[in-house]
Amino acid sequence: MNKKTELEKIREKILANKSLPLIPANLVFGEGNPDCQVMFIGEAPGFHEDKQGRPFVGRAGQLLNTLISEIGWKREDVYITNIVKRRPPENRDPFPEEIEAYKPYLAEQIKIINPKIIAPLGRFSMNYFLPLAKISQDQGKVFEKDSGEIKRIIYPLYHPAAALRSTNVLNDLRTAFKRLPDIIAGKYQAFGTETKTPEIIITKKKLGTPQSKLF
Ligand code: URA
Repeated sequence: MNKKTELEKIREKILANKSLPLIPANLVFGEGNPDCQVMFIGEAPGFHEDKQGRPFVGRAGQLLNTLISEIGWKREDVYITNIVKRRPPENRDPFPEEIEAYKPYLAEQIKIINPKIIAPLGRFSMNYFLPLAKISQDQGKVFEKDSGEIKRIIYPLYHPAAALRSTNVLNDLRTAFKRLPDIIAGKYQAFGTETKTPEIIITKKKLGTPQSKLF
């Protein structure tokens, strides 16, 4: 089965699960290149995303598109999705139980796509991958997540909606975005390592430690 077909099966599984929270909002599954190197993961769909059934198509999405094109990439080259796949009413923050309910589907999407880099957008998404991280402190830093045979980079970024409200946040987000091609090329210095056992630990390494070889 190819990746597209596998992803379609997950989409169907979500649609078939009538016990999921936030129904009857529309399903916003995610879109992009399943063979991408970078997967951007937001929080939950908003008004426009719910209407169109596509992630990041409102103002925050326009900014995301701009940032992607500023580094010479196309939106179609990457994969974009959210942790929670349906819009919370009035765009409120997702409840922990909503995140829990949609979590297995995101995990399956990640497994199929198998990106080199996961770029969580905003603190909700970041804390899903890095529970102890703080967005203002840790955005734009490279974390290596090592869960057995799979090594992945988690590169937390500010949410584009936050960048629409603050020029400083926008500048930081743009700076962090510009580093993406180098990070793909392995030209980065790991900042943190998350290990799974015995519990999640983030070990902060000083920038300037020898470059970790992931590729
Ligand atoms: N904000 C998100 O977190 N996701 C979207 O898809 C749109 C806005």
